[in-house]
Amino acid sequence: MNKEVRVRFAPSPTGPLHIGGVRTALYNYLFARKMGGKMLLRIEDTDQTRFVENAEQYILEALQWIGITIDEGPSVGGPCAPYRQSERKPMYKQYALQLVESGNAYYAFDTPEELEAMRKRLEAQKVASPAYNAITRTQMKNSLTLPEDEVKRRLEAGEPYVIRLKVPRKDEIRLNDLVRGWVMVHSSAIDDKVLMKSDGMPTYHLANVVDDHLMEITHVIRGEEWLPSAPLHVLLYKFLGWEETMPQFAHLPLLLKPDGNGKLSKRDADAGGFPVFPLDWKFQNKETGKDETWIGFREQGYLSDAVTNFLAFLGWNPGTNQELFTMEELIQAFSIERVGKSGTKFDIDKAKWFNQQYLKNKSGAELVPFLQKELQQRQLNASPESLVRICDLLKERLVFAHDLWNQGAYFFLSPTEYDPQVVTSKWTQEAVTVITSYAAALDKLPSLTAEQAKSTLNEVLEAQGVKMGKVLQALRVAITGVGAGPDLMQIMEVLGKQATVARIQQALTVLNSKVIA
Ligand code: GLU
Repeated sequence: MNKEVRVRFAPSPTGPLHIGGVRTALYNYLFARKMGGKMLLRIEDTDQTRFVENAEQYILEALQWIGITIDEGPSVGGPCAPYRQSERKPMYKQYALQLVESGNAYYAFDTPEELEAMRKRLEAQKVASPAYNAITRTQMKNSLTLPEDEVKRRLEAGEPYVIRLKVPRKDEIRLNDLVRGWVMVHSSAIDDKVLMKSDGMPTYHLANVVDDHLMEITHVIRGEEWLPSAPLHVLLYKFLGWEETMPQFAHLPLLLKPDGNGKLSKRDADAGGFPVFPLDWKFQNKETGKDETWIGFREQGYLSDAVTNFLAFLGWNPGTNQELFTMEELIQAFSIERVGKSGTKFDIDKAKWFNQQYLKNKSGAELVPFLQKELQQRQLNASPESLVRICDLLKERLVFAHDLWNQGAYFFLSPTEYDPQVVTSKWTQEAVTVITSYAAALDKLPSLTAEQAKSTLNEVLEAQGVKMGKVLQALRVAITGVGAGPDLMQIMEVLGKQATVARIQQALTVLNSKVIA
């Protein structure tokens, strides 16, 4: 029987989640659900200098907004609790000691000054990337170079030390990445990484591998920036005797700047005026002491299902022409085989396109709450039926939900301005004559439907021998103030007879002096 699939999302709470992190979480989630497995959230907070308050809360909220549910994690618990590495601190040391015992790690007592001196020495010798490794460790103060009794004395005296991995000098480390295929790294390219810091905290590498093992993780799905660490992790699995149950790796392609040149950063996003964080992040900048806000997708008016759909396509494709997927459909369609190797451009216009599609596919009634929010802010209101109608009329024209207001404010407020471009080209004497008679004809009707608005207009046009095209835009600008929008007859029906006639009369007065020859 196959083992149950167990995957984890393992963010460090150092700030708001970058959109790349959310994509990693999403792919883990899709894979877990597709395979009928478990999705874990593990908070990797061993680096206390980079800890940011509220970041964990932000991560939880962002995952929830996207629609990712966690099976095991700090907020929901689970059989491998605790799920915060800072709370697991006592568990790691034994594994570091086990590695020392088996000769695969060693104590190092070098002071920061000694490390700096080594770096300078190597630089002077023109060593390309100075590192603590199989060659240089022989010249440093560690349990490989110091006599055994001195090591013992130093440890007993409580001298500060770190534990470093003893990376073999000549070894080929191979791993079969599910996205990238076989990756081979020579051990000389890896330095003797610190596994346990002098404060007794494990480093990322040790904690990550130990936890993936103890939490029985079967697949490590993470961003490509972690690929260089993978050979080191493979060594750790080997040295700890866990090779048999080592998880499979899948490193997701980089997210690139919109122009494709280099990795997407927050700075690129700021320069391009688009968000890279899922939610707004308000925090106090430790350096300046000032409160700062980073704009998020949610607050910019993106729908979470549109963002999910957009993220799913940043590195994966279904192999068909289908672009719109619900979460359930994504789960069914997802496979790691269809994740690409090459970096994917982050194209915010595509995110907008998805948002537009999702808004268009909603019913008028589903959009009403978004419109109501805009109206409340402006202390306006309308009947529930007309709100549904208005949303139905506008939904084809929206990129963001707040465009309901930008596109349709005239449903609630009479125009105070008239698009000058339309006025200077369409407000002709002919149009004014027709519109004047039209207002009078409408006024005689008992009420106003779109149908009647249209047939009445046709009658007036016919009587005066004028074509519809000569008048329609002028009539639209008179009623709405703008040159484009949904079907004008429908707009008139929503506004009602009285308001329509009043608006036309107001326009005839205000634009009296603007009539063109
Ligand atoms: N804590 C790492 C991060 O912040 C986790 C990397 C991994 O998934 O192994 O992304």
